[in-house]
Amino acid sequence: MRRAIYPGSFDPVTNGHLDVIARAAKLFDEVIVAVAVNDQKRGLFTADERTALIRGAVAGWKNVRVSRFDGLLVEFASAQGATAVVRGLRAVSDFEFEFQMALMNRKLDEQIETIFLMPAENYTYLSSRIVKEISRLGGNVDAFVPASVAGALREKLAARPA
Ligand code: ADP
Repeated sequence: MRRAIYPGSFDPVTNGHLDVIARAAKLFDEVIVAVAVNDQKRGLFTADERTALIRGAVAGWKNVRVSRFDGLLVEFASAQGATAVVRGLRAVSDFEFEFQMALMNRKLDEQIETIFLMPAENYTYLSSRIVKEISRLGGNVDAFVPASVAGALREKLAARPA
């Protein structure tokens, strides 16, 4: 059983993340999307909301599971019986941070290999941050996120003071 973990904040999940999940699901028997709970970053959505939005988006994807995690990624990966961590690489700007993290994770547990996947070209400019920004400014994000996420963004931002 080849199992991979795809960790992130997913605040919220975008079509770019889903593209990476779909690619990983072709390579591995099982992909666990791991939603970081005690992230340093203060999110727009709670961990429960972020988890529910991904679950909705991958419902019916047979070999994809969604789980929350806090603590060390390599410990979570090893407890789940995973041998790989998947990360998405959009541009050179992602590289430095990802490279550092991959090497640090290897130092912590050399059994866990980090695999980088590149999304389809039209998702390379997409990030949760930019989607939130567009949404906050009243723009249409339907092309960038699943419909349920676009709806959740509208609701969340309507409920918040500008
Ligand atoms: P983090 O906050 O840890 O960067 P994110 O949820 O933003 O978590 O992203 C998780 C992973 O998905 C990271 O490896 C990130 O580079 C990747 N990712 C984010 N957006 C995209 C995208 N549009 N295409 C491909 N990979 C992406």
